[in-house]
Amino acid sequence: RDPSVKKPEWLRQRAPQGEKFAKLHESLSKLKLNTVCVEAQCPNIGECWNGGGGAGGEGDGIATATIMLLGDTCTRGCRFCAVKTSRSPPPPDAMEPENTARAIASWGVEYIVLTSVDRDDLPDGGSGHFTKTVKAIKNLKPEILVECLTSDFRGDLEAVSTLVNSGLDVFAHNIETVRRLQRIVRDPRAGYEQSLSVLKHAKLCKEGMITKSSIMLGLGESDEEVQEAMADLRAIGVDILTLGQYLQPTPLHLTVKEYVTPEKFAFWKDYGESVGFRYVASGPLVRSSYRAGELFVQKLVR
Ligand code: SF4
Ligand code: SF4
Repeated sequence: RDPSVKKPEWLRQRAPQGEKFAKLHESLSKLKLNTVCVEAQCPNIGECWNGGGGAGGEGDGIATATIMLLGDTCTRGCRFCAVKTSRSPPPPDAMEPENTARAIASWGVEYIVLTSVDRDDLPDGGSGHFTKTVKAIKNLKPEILVECLTSDFRGDLEAVSTLVNSGLDVFAHNIETVRRLQRIVRDPRAGYEQSLSVLKHAKLCKEGMITKSSIMLGLGESDEEVQEAMADLRAIGVDILTLGQYLQPTPLHLTVKEYVTPEKFAFWKDYGESVGFRYVASGPLVRSSYRAGELFVQKLVR
């Protein structure tokens, strides 16, 4: 971290509690399911797993959790991300789609986010694996809502179409930062235009598809650049936006340039909704899948 930039009070995390949280936590231990929520010690776990209501209380919304597919090793190396990297990660587990679907169906969660590392080593970037997993979940329990938060598939729009038509409910892909900072923040194989083309295609290749993206703040972006990014996302019909504070995972990663205040995050939520997003989640600890089921889908799908 840049030593002149001190971590503020509002980033303190509260321990999760709540009845739904406790139930999901207990049943998870019996299933072989690795959630990003637990593995990454996500600060939102109380709110997401309780379906809202805050870290200490029961919400009346639907519980959300995030599952990582395709292993823990990424073929890319973004400068904000602590995931381990390799040119040739182990091959995907062919049984993962079916086993994951069974575990999710028996777990009790109502909205599931499937995500993964980038798999540039696979011919379809992992799109087929995601597709099989979505189909297996919907086959076992059609009422579970599924969001896929994917890589850019190297801009392979065929791979995007396959996944968008798998039966998923929300297609998410993160642009991560404003246009000017892409090169500094993301792996050089990623890019602003490529990400926009993926989101645009996802919207166009299935009628009514809900699309979603996310931007980290605190990396040195200006207000005008954030507004430009929002305008670019709206121009291709992106429905949902999340904004959160960038936090440096290790001293080897990019430093935090600024801790954006909760008031400024609230400003961006209002601004985003005024320029046409159907929903904006914006706050220091907001992550891409933050309360996704409760906040987005009740409004947009049901
Ligand atoms: Fe899990 Fe995402 Fe919620 Fe964090 S924000 S608890 S990773 S669903
Ligand atoms: Fe991390 Fe995704 Fe970048 Fe891989 S592509 S290094 S998982 S942010």
